[in-house]
Amino acid sequence: MTNYIATPTRTKAILNKYGFSFKKSLGQNFLIDVNVLRNIIKHAGIDKQAGVIEIGPGIGALTEQLAIHADKVVAFEIDQRLLPILKDTLHGYNNFELIHQDILKADVVQVIRKHFTKEQNIHVVANLPYYITTPILMKLVRDKLPVSSITVMIQKEVAERMAAQPNTKSYGSLTIALQYYTEAEVAMPVPKSVFMPQPNVDSAILKLEMRERPPVHVEDEDFFFNIVKASFAQRRKTLQNNLKSYFKDRYDKDVIHNVLEKSGIDGKRRGESLDIGEFARLANTFFKETK
Ligand code: SAM
Repeated sequence: MTNYIATPTRTKAILNKYGFSFKKSLGQNFLIDVNVLRNIIKHAGIDKQAGVIEIGPGIGALTEQLAIHADKVVAFEIDQRLLPILKDTLHGYNNFELIHQDILKADVVQVIRKHFTKEQNIHVVANLPYYITTPILMKLVRDKLPVSSITVMIQKEVAERMAAQPNTKSYGSLTIALQYYTEAEVAMPVPKSVFMPQPNVDSAILKLEMRERPPVHVEDEDFFFNIVKASFAQRRKTLQNNLKSYFKDRYDKDVIHNVLEKSGIDGKRRGESLDIGEFARLANTFFKETK
């Protein structure tokens, strides 16, 4: 049997060899189960022609499987202590490049241009550090990367929020933000036992297919996202009350009533009952009426 990195014994041996101690502040929970890694790769749709951007390779558990199944892997790692370890654990793979950088500060578009060909299908694949899951995913989608998909291991509750339907507890501004740029799907729940150390929360594989264009037309993206944020500000409040308090310094309540009436949306509804099309209609009417 091949001695993959992603096993409890090999992982422990690597950690011991380098006297590596996990940094909770960097969300370091390494994967120790090859089956889970293969599931991530399957859901990501990786093949031998694919280019992969990985975030946070750790000691290389997922990176190794990606290097086996894809054409090339470029990974961003923030923790300097992992650099010599990765050099050792992945020395047998010549299709892997490491960039020592905080992903939130990286120019990923530039990196993709530099390392992959125009014809190549690029995918982002990662077991994300949970403390910055949302900022990372928001950055990746807002940067409009030339990638086909983003497949990530994240906290189950957050994955459910990103892929939620209207009128559910998980549905919120994060759902709309992600669904504006991608088609989101919770691919598979994952138990805590496949991580070292085990996290306190359950996990899931989230698959985001990048949309070629947003599913709705919006006049002004920032304004649209502001309306969404305002509508969910207090979940128990009605739409009109949320909009009134959010915009109280800018618009009179008559303006809010007029906009709701013109967009044909009952202000007594709650934000969580509106689908993305209704949010777009509301925001576009608001924008036109107040500009
Ligand atoms: N991919 C490895 C695995 O599955 O075993 C490790 C995953 S671990 C959950 C998250 C990794 O992301 C760690 O290696 C951590 O050091 C790295 N990391 C944390 N914050 C980061 C950031 N801002 N930019 C790049 N890497 C980061």
